[in-house]
Amino acid sequence: MTETTPKFSSSMFDEKPLAGQHAVITGGSRGIGAAISNYLARLGADISLTGRTQETLEAQAGRLASKYGVKVCTATGDMAVEADVVSAFDGAVQTLGPVSILINNAGIGESAPFHRMETDFWNKIIGLNLTGTFLATKQVYGAMREQKYGRIINIASIVGLTGYAYIAAYSASKHGVIGMTRSLALEAAKTGITVNAVCPGYTDTDLVAAAVDNIADKTGRTTEEAVADLVSTSPQGRLITPEEVAETTAWLSLPSSGAITGQSIVVAGGAVLN
Ligand code: NDP
Repeated sequence: MTETTPKFSSSMFDEKPLAGQHAVITGGSRGIGAAISNYLARLGADISLTGRTQETLEAQAGRLASKYGVKVCTATGDMAVEADVVSAFDGAVQTLGPVSILINNAGIGESAPFHRMETDFWNKIIGLNLTGTFLATKQVYGAMREQKYGRIINIASIVGLTGYAYIAAYSASKHGVIGMTRSLALEAAKTGITVNAVCPGYTDTDLVAAAVDNIADKTGRTTEEAVADLVSTSPQGRLITPEEVAETTAWLSLPSSGAITGQSIVVAGGAVLN
């Protein structure tokens, strides 16, 4: 992952508009989640990170604490498993207090042709990307209502707004996330809580590296040809950076973004016109 290159003005970071807030980022150890944690910490929020791998979580937590001087908590668990989600959020709240910002980011993006798609595969993708988003949101929503304040941001995808071949389960999960975002935004509209989705195009992370390897493996194309295949879907002809997704997410997390709710913000170089 490249180092954060913020486009927010330095005075915005100096003002620390998220000071005193507690942000939970699911899947915050790597990729887009780690980039979001960099932004939110730099804006002053204390951060809880979840993921399945303690080592990578602690490495990112260490970077946040040493670079930005915020309090950081890590919780290991599978965000598709309700008991793990409950335990992760209980631990985070005990350590850093009530959650005011939730970033539902943990996700998997595997592909399969529909005629070979097993039910277990379907359930795995829906279980993390969609049900995991529901489970994590359930952990914070009641307390946000009591506080009369909250920012919930779901990292969906452009394929939550359109479809691509071979990813029916993934696209269905992300359409579901956008549907949940829109409904909950309306339900929460008078509570001080906003609910939005960020929809990245192909972004330069491990998830896309695995997709590139898979295309190369299945089609005999070189890695460069497989990357070219993916970026051909973007009018800008390039991968998005994790920092570009993080910056939009950070903007939606600000107290001053209170009028923006129920939206699906596309960060994809023009790949989908929303
Ligand atoms: P990465 O694979 O790079 O990172 C995924 C993160 O989620 C890691 O921190 C991983 O840690 C964690 N994670 C994975 N599975 C679980 C699980 N079952 N429980 C808890 N944590 C888990 O993915 P990206 O950063 O690329 O993707 C982040 C989000 O952005 C996903 O929701 C993805 O669908 C979405 N997205 C990505 C795009 C892309 O092109 N990269 C495009 C559009 C959307 P660990 O493995 O240790 O659990």
